[in-house]
Amino acid sequence: MAESHEPLVFIVSGPSGSGKSTLVKKLLELPGTMLSISVTTRPPRQGESDNRWYHFVSQDVFQRMVQNGEFLEYACVFGKHSYGTPRKWLDEARTQKKDLVLEIDVQGARQVRQKVPESIAIFIVPPSREELETRLRARGLDGEDEIRRRLEQARLEMEQYVDYDYVVINENLESAGHAVQAIAHGARCRTMQNRDRVRKILESFGG
Ligand code: 5GP
Repeated sequence: MAESHEPLVFIVSGPSGSGKSTLVKKLLELPGTMLSISVTTRPPRQGESDNRWYHFVSQDVFQRMVQNGEFLEYACVFGKHSYGTPRKWLDEARTQKKDLVLEIDVQGARQVRQKVPESIAIFIVPPSREELETRLRARGLDGEDEIRRRLEQARLEMEQYVDYDYVVINENLESAGHAVQAIAHGARCRTMQNRDRVRKILESFGG
């Protein structure tokens, strides 16, 4: 009988500027992981290409996808644009025998936790407000109003950290990267995850 693969679902959340995207890349460096490409109504920023991190769609298309039940979760983030995780990535991960990495906000994380209770939720925290502000400015992606909004949003989001399984304080990218990879390695060693394989090994002992 072919071994089934029930994908692990890693949720990564944290305020923008916390380094979450870089840490998601660290997870994606691990063999056997794949990214859930979100659908969003936010327009692409300069240099962002479609279907790499996001699939950019109109509000109409997004609504149609909601009505068709295509999303595992979706939310309006910063009260501005809609973002959603298509269910198809779970099937894709199952087919490709990979684990799935979701970079989503706290509202989306809550929904995924309800639907996939065994998912592993990681919250990324910046070392301080000052450091977050410095990073947001250094990115040069957002105007002053947007930076203010993201800082305020960061405080609200960070209050949700207790609902996550793991918190990684991103003071230093190297050690934070090791931490997220260690979480993934640990999750892959869980008994639940390895039952089929261990059963086979036991069978090889006979008896
Ligand atoms: P940005 O516009 O800066 O790329 O992302 C803004 C926020 O939306 C981030 O907190 C990001 O994690 C979140 N986000 C990205 N994709 C999704 C998604 O598919 N669902 C939800 N709920 N949030 C998402």
